[in-house]
Amino acid sequence: MKLLVTGGLGFIGSNFIQLVLEKYPDYSIINLDKLTYCGNPNNAQEFSQNPRYSFVRGDVCNGPLVNDLISNVDVVVHFAAESHVDNSINEPFIFTKTNMLGTHVLLEAARQKKIKRFIMISTDEVYGSIREGSFKETDGLFPNSPYAASKASADVLSRSYYKTYGLPVIVTRSSNNFGAYQHPEKLIPLFITNLIQGKKVPVYGDGKNIRDWIYVLDNCEGIDFVLHHGKLGEVYNVGGGNEIPNIDITKMLLENFKLDNTFISYVEDRLGHDFRYALDCSKINNLGWNPKHDFKTALDSTIEWYKNNDHWWKYLKVK
Ligand code: NAD
Repeated sequence: MKLLVTGGLGFIGSNFIQLVLEKYPDYSIINLDKLTYCGNPNNAQEFSQNPRYSFVRGDVCNGPLVNDLISNVDVVVHFAAESHVDNSINEPFIFTKTNMLGTHVLLEAARQKKIKRFIMISTDEVYGSIREGSFKETDGLFPNSPYAASKASADVLSRSYYKTYGLPVIVTRSSNNFGAYQHPEKLIPLFITNLIQGKKVPVYGDGKNIRDWIYVLDNCEGIDFVLHHGKLGEVYNVGGGNEIPNIDITKMLLENFKLDNTFISYVEDRLGHDFRYALDCSKINNLGWNPKHDFKTALDSTIEWYKNNDHWWKYLKVK
């Protein structure tokens, strides 16, 4: 099988490429990535020399380029996105462009070239916030940030290509990922790298906001599972089953570093900050996929990775 992976020099995309190249000796991958501040050639250090891997620097909004690349593959797995909620509050238009228009360009090219599978990587943030219970795939979408709204648009546009044109689309909506190669602007790597550097960690508001956390390798396995076993036209929630308030994650990290609460700096809450995300994953669980990694063990190994790879993240912190 030949795959076009978009955004494969980002956090989840690079973990996914590594997993696929290792797991399927006869699969090859073209990675299309614009190399924004979040894309990092060093994320490909484990597979850049693999003869079944090739990299193209380019924008998913570039129609002729996307058309050309799609002609050579069977499957598209679409990760490329602007992914940081805070940036979407300050500079929303690039989110509209990359996340909505970029997805549309890919869908259109995939339709013309009669691609066999189009996996759209969406997010739990499309549902909005929920006080109690958890979101099912059939629930309405009430995204609250420009990031989440741009992802929701891409998500439903993908589904419309299944309904209207029969494009073999499958959508995954995962919860918050953590693991190796995540940019240190995001909560867990930001806090880990601050603590390594002896700095305080900035907790939004009172820290009671709840997120479900999934280890990135579990999400990549989930995406791979859906690629091979998912039903066309369907949406799958992919959660880790680890609902944790931000302040509790913070305390777990402090504990690992043997530091006390004086290393917490409470900062003004994010605008429109969603209180809680929660996914009902029974649909994908019933199909046969479950996350394998224990949260605490995966968090500890993530901390170890950042401790052992400061050459990877140190220069990103100053940007
Ligand atoms: P990331 O920001 O680490 O990586 C995004 C990648 O996309 C980067 O390599 C960047 O260079 C590339 N990119 C950005 N704009 C591009 C463009 N116009 N053309 C080509 N490439 C472009 O993001 P991530 O955390 O790996 O997230 C990947 C996908 O998963 C995104 O679609 C995101 O919405 C989704 N997602 C992420 C999480 C999470 O917790 N990180 C949770 C749920 C869903």
